[in-house]
Amino acid sequence: MLSENEKHALNLIDDDELIGWVQALTRIPSVWKPAEGIGEEAAARWIEARCHEIGLETHFEFVVPGRPNVIAFLRSRPGTTPDAPYPTLMFEGHTDVVTEGDPAQWTHPPFGAVIRDGRIYGRGANDMKAGLCCALMAIKSIQRSGVALAGDIVLGAVCDEEGSMIGIKHFVERGWADRVTACIVCEPEENHLCIAQKGVMWVRCVIHGVMAHGAMPLTGVNAAYPLARFLSQVHALEEREIVRHGRHEFLGQPSITPTIVMSPARGGGEPQNNVMPGAAECVLDVRLIPGQDPEDIARRIETMLAASVAVDGRLRGEVQVIEVRYPTSTDRHHPIVQALAGAYADLTGAPPVYGGVPGSTDGTILHARKGIPIVTCGPGDIHIPHHVDEWVSIEEIKLAARLYVLAAIRYLGHQ
Ligand SMILES: [Zn+2]
Repeated sequence: MLSENEKHALNLIDDDELIGWVQALTRIPSVWKPAEGIGEEAAARWIEARCHEIGLETHFEFVVPGRPNVIAFLRSRPGTTPDAPYPTLMFEGHTDVVTEGDPAQWTHPPFGAVIRDGRIYGRGANDMKAGLCCALMAIKSIQRSGVALAGDIVLGAVCDEEGSMIGIKHFVERGWADRVTACIVCEPEENHLCIAQKGVMWVRCVIHGVMAHGAMPLTGVNAAYPLARFLSQVHALEEREIVRHGRHEFLGQPSITPTIVMSPARGGGEPQNNVMPGAAECVLDVRLIPGQDPEDIARRIETMLAASVAVDGRLRGEVQVIEVRYPTSTDRHHPIVQALAGAYADLTGAPPVYGGVPGSTDGTILHARKGIPIVTCGPGDIHIPHHVDEWVSIEEIKLAARLYVLAAIRYLGHQ
């Protein structure tokens, strides 16, 4: 059931303006190409300008040159910071997009934002400029409706989600997340409520042997065989983890995938048919589901590598954990999930679809560093990000903006 306040705010959503925004933002290429002087700045300036038009308290911060974050607040009590705890809802999105690849492969120009058959085509239209524009429109409609919320809304439009996530890390380091009590990550999820997210750990393992002529291998020590033994143990570890943790209802089973296997190791020169390299390396892409402990897995990997090199005193193993992002999950009964679920049911007449995110997002950082409950929910086909002919459904855009309006009003409450 919709309240009068909610109906009023929903009526203020201007769909034509919203679709125009998605097109305008998609037409600003924001692929990170430092050599060509292209990054997120122009897209971030466009968002900043919309925030000023709406009348939000807006901050523009460079994380590194050419790569800014935009932070904007709709304050429940402008200009004051209440002492009593109060909720703050964050809408989160990234301004960077991945490369368009070869434009000749595209049916429509990658940055043309052409509309065909109810879809907007373009690199970043789906991932995730549509989601950002829906958050902006939701905030604008709530602001114009004059509904007095009992908490703040903050929009974080950050850089570099597709890279090392320096944007959201900077956002957290600057303290912007300190008061956030829940976050909707506006990534393309077909407006499903994604309440779980896989974690990831990348581990580089190097085995150092002794380089030799391929005709006289006994004058050196081959690193490839111990690496092969190690990899078969890694496979067994993966199987044990699957048995131990089973299938997550949204995320499926955990995995450990060797994504890079090479000899010579990086930095070991060009491979040659008659040269036995001095080192071999692999990178393990470990995908984690809630309940798994990345530190425990890293320790097991280290023990296995040590055992693989123990056969010869001249072999040496080296393990490097490159990155760890923990899996996340948010309880179905958390108020932000309930707010979105109720909104979905009221707007569509159907029960919400719950899901999980197989990769990691900026939400992973918010959850890991600040314990913020996150729900990933936004417009756009789940499988289309990073593809040629990327598109986003206009119907899903319209629904997402409405979901955000209702979720914000219901989560934050009225004064
Ligand atoms: Zn994305």
